[in-house]
Amino acid sequence: MLKVNEIFYSIQGESSFSGIPFVFVRLTGCNLRCSYCDTKYAYEEGEELTVEQILKKIKKYKCRYVEITGGEPLLQEETPFLVDSLVDKGFNVLVETNGTKDISVISDKAAIIMDIKCPSSGEVDKVDWENIKRLDKKDEVKFVIAEKSDYVWAKKIIAERDLTYKAKVLLSPVQEKLRPYLLAEWILKDNLKVRFQLQLHKILWPEEKRGR
Ligand code: SF4
Repeated sequence: MLKVNEIFYSIQGESSFSGIPFVFVRLTGCNLRCSYCDTKYAYEEGEELTVEQILKKIKKYKCRYVEITGGEPLLQEETPFLVDSLVDKGFNVLVETNGTKDISVISDKAAIIMDIKCPSSGEVDKVDWENIKRLDKKDEVKFVIAEKSDYVWAKKIIAERDLTYKAKVLLSPVQEKLRPYLLAEWILKDNLKVRFQLQLHKILWPEEKRGR
């Protein structure tokens, strides 16, 4: 059984898959409390479902792209089994994780979208740096930037750990904390080989707090 907060159909708002219709499976529970968290409702709320019940709900949308997200999806023991079941059935699967749990438990046929928590999140000390060795080229690493000091820190980590050779690297501003054009200008000025992204779903549906 997995504890599921919500299953919904929307436009992928992040990563190099941005713009593609996806089914999202949001699992309950998170081991972090990031300062800018916009999914606090996923900390506790949810219903227990079997993998079979989850697959049935996903199939209803007739969509081949599925993202498993949270909360933190790697906290639940059956998440790797859910991913395997989806991959076996021919779905394109993304797993979005906060980067504090071992990502190697996930099938290498799924793509990992992994946060590296910046200092202003308040959770930088929880990052599992071993995960960087576990990434491959289909995976993506995301830095959520709330202020200039986060950007300077992320730039240093990207260079020191050769991140752009290991995975796609995404930089995203925290909505309402950092004006997006500033991040775009810093990236251009430093000629970083990264992808700037805005959370497309928040532009499309600014009033919606969940299910998007
Ligand atoms: S990892 Fe994600 S869900 Fe967990 S506290 Fe941070 S932003 Fe919220």
